[in-house]
Amino acid sequence: MTLDAATPARPHDTADSRPMARIAVDVGGTTVKGAAFTHDGSVIAHCTMATFAAHRDALGSVRAVVARLVSEVGATGARATGIGVASPGLVDAARGRVVYAANLGWADVDLVPALVDDFGLPVRIEHDARAGAIAERAAHRNEAAAYREFIFVPIGTGVAAAVVTSGALVHGATGGAGEFGHMPIGPGRELCGCGQRGCIEAYASASSVLRRYRARGGVGATTTPELVASLAHDADAASVWADLIEALAIGLGSLSAVLDPARIVIGGGLSQAGASLIDPLRAAIDAKLGWRATPTVVQSALGSHSGLIGAGLLSDDRPVTSRFAVTAASALSSLRAVAPVEPVVLRPIDSHHQ
Ligand SMILES: [Zn+2]
Repeated sequence: MTLDAATPARPHDTADSRPMARIAVDVGGTTVKGAAFTHDGSVIAHCTMATFAAHRDALGSVRAVVARLVSEVGATGARATGIGVASPGLVDAARGRVVYAANLGWADVDLVPALVDDFGLPVRIEHDARAGAIAERAAHRNEAAAYREFIFVPIGTGVAAAVVTSGALVHGATGGAGEFGHMPIGPGRELCGCGQRGCIEAYASASSVLRRYRARGGVGATTTPELVASLAHDADAASVWADLIEALAIGLGSLSAVLDPARIVIGGGLSQAGASLIDPLRAAIDAKLGWRATPTVVQSALGSHSGLIGAGLLSDDRPVTSRFAVTAASALSSLRAVAPVEPVVLRPIDSHHQ
């Protein structure tokens, strides 16, 4: 499927004259975030719940968030016309199934059929990084050429990548494309949460950089914003940050050599580090590519909202048009207005929702 040819899901009742709203859900290892967007991107309802609030059942939390949003949409006089879900893990978008998501405890969860049964609405699912890429591209419709060949790398508690080549999202044979965080960057390195050694994610996620900082004896910073703020005067912070940059640059240099992207967009909570992340990363990728063209490396404009906005675009029932740029931009400003700025998640991996 190209991003330009997303199959529209039709509203189930075209005779209904109530305003239409799209339900979007971004499932994370810590929280399930949901919003209801009108067709111009305004948020008319929003809801965030701890992922394991419902008796340690992530699917129960997704159902609860959707139910609340559908109810709140109805209370505004609008009607929900579709549901889009962004999920981590191995996502089979065509079958509507999450094949495996370690952080959610999911194996072969038929999420789309379950939500269709519950709510009677069209439901679409996509890997959260790929949903984010859809949102990034929608937000940059006036730069279509750059977003025909690009890599979106959300960095939060994990590290993933969505690859768009010739305008199409790469899903892979099993839906497993984009496990960028688990590319090994060398032998004999640190243990990753996946059981493999030397994964990029063991060095470059918001969780792992803080875990490594503590392991070195670092005590001054308890959040990644604090760690970034202390780079100039805290040798432990500077050391783990340099390792993070190097791990990302090795991986992104390799991807660039293979795919020749026009642009690399760094997103997720850690992208809020801004120039402290983007500038050294750009230089490190450039150094690794030698004579080859270095892609433009930019910070996401959508930050940690990209997955949720992308989920909203998944459930869109209109053909993709240039209005999507307006929709993505207004969705962002609307989310910023209703949702507090979220702190980057800082817990080490080994205490992650245990
Ligand atoms: Zn790994």
